[in-house]
Amino acid sequence: MVCNICPRNCGVQRNIKHGVCSVGESFRVARAAPHHWEEPCLSGDKGSGTVFFSGCNLGCVFCQNRDISHGAFGKDVTPDELKRIFDKLLESGVHNLNLVTPTHFVPMLARVLAEYNSPVPVIYNSSGYEKAETVKMLEGLVDIYLPDIKYFDSAPALKYSGAADYFEYASEAVLEMHRQVGEVELDENGIAKKGLIIRHMVLPGNISQAVKVFEWVKDNLPIETYISVMRQYTPFGKAKDMPPVNRKLSAREYSIVKAKILAMGFENCNFQSGEAATESFIPNFNLEGVDL
Ligand code: SF4
Repeated sequence: MVCNICPRNCGVQRNIKHGVCSVGESFRVARAAPHHWEEPCLSGDKGSGTVFFSGCNLGCVFCQNRDISHGAFGKDVTPDELKRIFDKLLESGVHNLNLVTPTHFVPMLARVLAEYNSPVPVIYNSSGYEKAETVKMLEGLVDIYLPDIKYFDSAPALKYSGAADYFEYASEAVLEMHRQVGEVELDENGIAKKGLIIRHMVLPGNISQAVKVFEWVKDNLPIETYISVMRQYTPFGKAKDMPPVNRKLSAREYSIVKAKILAMGFENCNFQSGEAATESFIPNFNLEGVDL
């Protein structure tokens, strides 16, 4: 298959040569385990059933999962093995199946999800850098979309992710996600059953991006749209030498962003506490749940 799944349009045969996402045609997974640090409506008390896919089509300089995204650490698994990974997660009682960084596997994943028929909600947890036409392949197969909108302007998108066209694609993809699943609906225990949750991690020295992203959300989606404003930024990798993203976000920066977002009138916002900016939020990528 010549791969043009995502906006990178590598045009490579992934079984012969890797594109920007650094993986072939087989699923590659680095970890599958309950995760307790997602939004409360996703983690609940039993955890969210995260499946971390290896490789990434975006490749941000500050990626906290860089071992698996940039390094593509993980184990190749067949579609049947992926279903067994899902089974094991469900046996642990998780509230949902949370597919993390799945963009570069969408066509293969659509086939697996159609066959699997998950009894719990399926979450598509992505960077937002994807084609709306690719997201269309998941219609009826994903219950909860959890995309980032990382940048509004081209300059930071190019500088930190090498993708000047990031917002052009992410905005169209998010509108398609909303068309499919609408706003978040919770069950009687406050756990999400369906809907769109938009994440934005506020970057130090870049709070204008947060404000512009949520202004766009306010103008293009219902005011009930669930938004998650993350303050956990910690400099990793190349970002350690790239001011202003070589430091953590200050409390003042986050409080300015929070006040501006609240003033926009959003009705469903998740804000993180100061303790969020620690490495305890970063899972250990050790093939847990993958080596069955
Ligand atoms: S999915 Fe990977 S190989 Fe395909 S276009 Fe995107 S980055 Fe390139």
